[in-house]
Amino acid sequence: MKKKVVILGSTGSIGCNALQVIDALSSEYEVIALSAHRNLDLLAEQVRKFTPRYAAVTDEPSERVLKQTFSDFEGTVLSGPESLVELASLVEADIIVSAVVGAAGLPAALAAAQAGKTLAIANKEPLVIAGELLTAAARKSGATLLPIDSEHSAVFQAMQAGRPQEVRKVVLTASGGPFRKATFEQMNNATIEEAMAHPTWTMGPKITIDSATMMNKALEVIEAVWLFDLPVDKVNVVIHPESIIHSMVEFIDGSVMAQLGTPDMKVPIQYALTYPERREGLGEGLRLDKLGQLNFQTPDFNHFRALALGFEVAATLGSAPVVFNAANEAAVAAFLEGRIRFGQIVELIDHCLQTHTIQEHLTLEELLQIDAWAWREVAERLDRNTTIVN
Ligand code: NDP
Ligand code: MG
Repeated sequence: MKKKVVILGSTGSIGCNALQVIDALSSEYEVIALSAHRNLDLLAEQVRKFTPRYAAVTDEPSERVLKQTFSDFEGTVLSGPESLVELASLVEADIIVSAVVGAAGLPAALAAAQAGKTLAIANKEPLVIAGELLTAAARKSGATLLPIDSEHSAVFQAMQAGRPQEVRKVVLTASGGPFRKATFEQMNNATIEEAMAHPTWTMGPKITIDSATMMNKALEVIEAVWLFDLPVDKVNVVIHPESIIHSMVEFIDGSVMAQLGTPDMKVPIQYALTYPERREGLGEGLRLDKLGQLNFQTPDFNHFRALALGFEVAATLGSAPVVFNAANEAAVAAFLEGRIRFGQIVELIDHCLQTHTIQEHLTLEELLQIDAWAWREVAERLDRNTTIVN
């Protein structure tokens, strides 16, 4: 029997990589559902190639457009944001690959965790804002949460060398993004093109901007806290510009286990699909002799204020990660629309955190209300101030 896989966000960077992996493992894995938000042409192409049972479009296009796009598709077409929840809880599904971007993926991730599925998580924002709800739901149903994020896949693999109580600390590596060596002025006024020029990874626009602010690493610190049940003081970040060591675990005896590889998301995606086994991979092997050297630095928390805020938020938890994440999503959207300077992203996040009063043990509804509040707060602040377009 082939494993039945649902891919939420199949038209994105992770989604397309996941389909390549599944294509190569097609004797063992079968795609039963795909979802897109706006890229209907690519979804239609994927549907023709992988012939899933379900195709979902989360951005509610008209009936006419749907009919036209899927005229030759014999499966079921769903539309609207709630279709993700339906796909994530399909009785016949074994593995749900969560590869949509942002908090929009939360209801589906929660549904998969409640339904006892194997949930392969690339979409880190739901874990960051609702780690408590997601991990509790998985514990209750017996669902397995597997990381796709390369750092967390590395930690997950390294953890297998010891017991959880033997972990001294986790070290997440970070490339430092395009502004590792930039001056404050250069970073503050960076253009969209400059911020999108990631030195080592090719990814969707939101995470690429998050890597430039190092907000991505901040979110990953919180992601690690929830995935590995760690206090934040056991999570460290080191800059490693080559992105070859994907992260490390130091055990109490001083042994450090690291996972290395060329920067290719197909590796962690495949591991999440085949875990606990391994299969022949698609990518090239690592040639350290060709690389010559690997470099490491302590991150400059004054330069990357988002990372400093991330550690504070990870220590506070409660509703802080919800505000932190939503303010960032709203600010990144504004930056990508050319409405704010790059430097304003972290200013807006800081403003929202300062304005918010922390709440504990949120229900899904409370959490979504706080998420919506932070989006509104960013929008109102932008309406009040004259914005500078880059
Ligand atoms: P992309 O922007 O490339 O893809 C996002 C996917 O989600 C697309 O399929 C898009 O549909 C869909 N989507 C967008 N908005 C919505 C919405 N509101 N509701 C439902 N679906 C939506 O992102 P990435 O693939 O880069 O990233 C996906 C997630 O994985 C993110 O959370 C990111 O942080 C994480 N991640 C990504 C890595 C990478 O290498 N790219 C590495 C580690 C983690 P459409 O395109 O059809 O509009
Ligand atoms: Mg990562």
